[in-house]
Amino acid sequence: MGAPGSGKGTQAQRLVTQFGIPQISTGDILRKHRKEGTELGKRADAIMAKGLLVDDATMLDIIRDRVAQPDAQDGFILDGFPRTQPQAEGLAALMTELGTPIDSVVLFDVGTPELVRRISGRRTCSLCDKVFNVYSAPPASPATDCVAGSSEHQLFQRKDDEEATVTERLRVYEENTRPVLSYYSNNGLLRTVTAEGSLEEITKRVLAAIQEGTAVVGQAAPAKPARAAAARKRPAKRRPAAKKKPARAKVVRRKATKPARKKSRPAAARKRVVRTLRKVARKVARVVRRVRRKSKRR
Ligand SMILES: [Zn+2]
Repeated sequence: MGAPGSGKGTQAQRLVTQFGIPQISTGDILRKHRKEGTELGKRADAIMAKGLLVDDATMLDIIRDRVAQPDAQDGFILDGFPRTQPQAEGLAALMTELGTPIDSVVLFDVGTPELVRRISGRRTCSLCDKVFNVYSAPPASPATDCVAGSSEHQLFQRKDDEEATVTERLRVYEENTRPVLSYYSNNGLLRTVTAEGSLEEITKRVLAAIQEGTAVVGQAAPAKPARAAAARKRPAKRRPAAKKKPARAKVVRRKATKPARKKSRPAAARKRVVRTLRKVARKVARVVRRVRRKSKRR
C-alpha cells in the first residue's frame, strides 16, 4: 500500500523479477477482462455502463480467478487492492478460503512534499503514452523508444499530475486509506517501510519488513492471548477517529509504526490469536515430522 508516487509499483516490479511471482494489479486485470469480453468483463461493463464503480464482489471474483492461475501458486503481490475496509475484509475471507492467508501488508511511507515533487515531475508522451519523470527518469534525447518516425517524445503534464491537483489527490487517498491501514495494523499484518532513498535501499527494506513479518508471527505467539484477554475485559470503545482530524501525514505514520500500542477490538484480537495458534500448531507439526524422520533414519 502507498500513496500515488510512493514507488510501490516500481518496487513490486523488482520483486516480480527477483522471486518470479506475479504482480496482480486489479486495474489491469479488470481492463483485460473487459477487453477480452469474458463473463466477468461483461459483468463489469454492465455496472460501469450505469456509471457505477465495479462492486467489491465482482473485484473479489476477478482476484479469485487470477490467483488460481499457475504463475501465482508460489505467491503474488497484490497492487491497488484493497482500497476500503470492506474490500480488506472480503479479501481476508477469500484468502483464508483459498488457504493462502496474506503474509504481510507493506506500507510505503513517503513524506507529502516528496510525493508532490515526484508526481508533479511526471510527464506523459502524447505519441507513445510512456510516462517519464523530469527529476528521476527523464527521456533520452534523441528518443529511440517512441513511435516509429518520431525521434523525440512529445511530453505533456496530465491534469492529474499538476501540483494543485496532486495535493488534493493525496488528501483523498489518505482519507480513504486510513481505515484500511488501521484494519491491517489491528490484525498485526502492517509493515511500514520508509520509501525514500535509492531503489536498492528500499528493496532491502521491503524484504526485511516481509521477513520480520513472518518472524514476528512465531515469536509473538505467547504474548497474544494475554493481550486478547486484556482487550476483552475492557468494553470495546470506538475511537472517535472521524471527528478528530489532526495532521494527516502524521496520523498514518503513528498508526503504522506503533501498531502494538493501539487498542484492538476484541473480535479482531481473538481472530488474531486463533490465526497465530493455528500457525504455531502447523509449525510444531512440521518440527515433529522432521524429528521423526531423522530418528527413523538413525
Ligand atoms: Zn513518445
